Amino acid sequence: MARKVLVLGEVREGSLRNVSFEAVAAAKTSAEGGEVVGVLFGDSVSALGAEFIQYGADRVVTVEDELLKQYTSDGYSQALLAVIDQEDPEGIIFGHTAQGKDLAPKIAAKLESGLISDVTDLEVEGGNLVFTRPIYSGKAFEKKIVTDGLLFATIRPNNIAPLEKDESRNGDVSSLSVEIKNLRQVIKEVVRKATEGVDLSEAKVIVAGGRGVKSEEGFEPLKELADVLGGAVGASRGACDADYCDYSLQIGQTGKVVTPDLYIACGISGAIQHLAGMSNSKIIVAINKDPEANIFKVADYGIVGDLFEVLPLLTKEFKEL
Ligand code: FAD
Repeated sequence: MARKVLVLGEVREGSLRNVSFEAVAAAKTSAEGGEVVGVLFGDSVSALGAEFIQYGADRVVTVEDELLKQYTSDGYSQALLAVIDQEDPEGIIFGHTAQGKDLAPKIAAKLESGLISDVTDLEVEGGNLVFTRPIYSGKAFEKKIVTDGLLFATIRPNNIAPLEKDESRNGDVSSLSVEIKNLRQVIKEVVRKATEGVDLSEAKVIVAGGRGVKSEEGFEPLKELADVLGGAVGASRGACDADYCDYSLQIGQTGKVVTPDLYIACGISGAIQHLAGMSNSKIIVAINKDPEANIFKVADYGIVGDLFEVLPLLTKEFKEL
């Protein structure tokens, strides 16, 4: 069934985040031959419309306002409801990010629709659009279809491949005027914590450390390997609780959910709460002194050994490639 599907792009520091392009690919499948309309909010975002179209959107609607420069639940809800009113879509796709996780359920509830969250795959099977999502902290997957109402879904970053960028694609970028008012919260300034290197949630390679890293300095060999591989450093809650690193690096049930191409777990035992955040990684390498460690059950490659001996050897080998 051909549908009109909206896809909300995410803008960070003047650029579209990669998850926006993945969401367009998901919207394209959901549209089943119908129209995919990119939606962008911010103080000055229309210039990003062309890129959205090159990744597969048929056209783009923007709402520009100083009050939309930073995400607020109220402001983005007002803008999105106005776009929904104008476009009358049959589906809306969001990234399963801090923003999407906040906005999608709010709008779905407001419109009395269901929501399929944290989608890792979608395909048309036997005439139905079937969404796959992990359940029980990633121990199983369930498949869902929408039988009624507006289709709402959030897609987990790094799972659905974006379409190939096609610079010859053209489409209309139009702006909708919406009066953003009565915000309960106005963000004056965002002061980002200085993070080195690659964004953890979008990294293709993650080198993660656990309590086995033993100290803040113990993270140095992990950083060196991550640098050589162009990746990011992550951590278990054990390492964060022990104050070896910042909580912004925590991966797991109560931390970030990541799906890199390569996840190297160093001195991490593999508690279920940690696996919930990384077990969908494409290739998992575990380095642990304990051959019985649970992490080896999900690892594609296991190295039983001391991470402080193994990591410098790996870094040296990769440097020489
Ligand atoms: P440990 O379990 O102590 O494991 C350390 C590992 O390092 C051991 O396997 C050991 O053999 C190995 N090791 C030691 N020295 C070396 C060495 N030199 N070389 C190689 N290996 C070595 N945890 C998360 O990670 N993320 C979450 O989001 C999360 N959420 C939680 C939510 C709740 C409600 C609860 C109750 C717990 C949560 N936890 C979470 C905590 C989780 O249960 C574990 O306690 C935690 O993941 C353990 O961290 P760890 O593997 O680093 O430490």
